[in-house]
Amino acid sequence: MASPALAPPNSFPSLFLFDIDGTLLRGAGPQHREALEYAAARVLGVSATTEGIPVHGMLDTGIVTEMLKREGVAQARIRRAMPEIIRSAERRYVRSGPDSLTGKVCPGVPDLLAQLQLRGVPMLLVTGNFPRIGWRKLELAGLRHYFTHGAFAGMSATRGGLARIAIRHARERGWLNGAPANAGSVVLIGDAPADILAARGNRIRSIAVCTGISTREELEAHRPHLLIDSLVELRLADLGAN
Ligand SMILES: [Mg+2]
Repeated sequence: MASPALAPPNSFPSLFLFDIDGTLLRGAGPQHREALEYAAARVLGVSATTEGIPVHGMLDTGIVTEMLKREGVAQARIRRAMPEIIRSAERRYVRSGPDSLTGKVCPGVPDLLAQLQLRGVPMLLVTGNFPRIGWRKLELAGLRHYFTHGAFAGMSATRGGLARIAIRHARERGWLNGAPANAGSVVLIGDAPADILAARGNRIRSIAVCTGISTREELEAHRPHLLIDSLVELRLADLGAN
């Protein structure tokens, strides 16, 4: 059951921002974590694992930093090595990632993306994945053609910062039709409390879905504008008139 929308519907959003893991795809497999571990070992010669790190909602940069700090690597050294770690993890994932993710697409996603594309609404990614890992996942899931741009781990230290980059990108291209981003014209869809907080930090609307790891109760506690079990429940007409 959908919660009542907390924000009164006004005009239909001009921009949709999407998280990837738990929102567009779920259960994408262990290859992503493995690529981060591989890169840490290859670039810094440190055997570090993601084991025990609450990766849900975290950015890849944050996960790698946490892994290495636990092994005693100094923050400055991690920061210096990060660009190379990103490249190494991306190469590893592209080379050794899953063969297909078409079976991992979350319910309602293909329909929603097709409807938004039909309406000509721009869609951007706001994800904690490193860029080529995120793009590769979408490619493997058959969703790549819906997106042209995104904000990824490595571009900002926080998810809120990534959302800000995506909004700025859209504004610079005139996709917001001059509307202020805080007037309900931008929606961020995600499965973690971190997505809701990123939306709030940018004063944009948040839609939380229960297709990831977070429970409905956890998400509810962060007061998203709309909370739904899956994107099957999202009716575009409820988001505002065209
Ligand atoms: Mg997620």
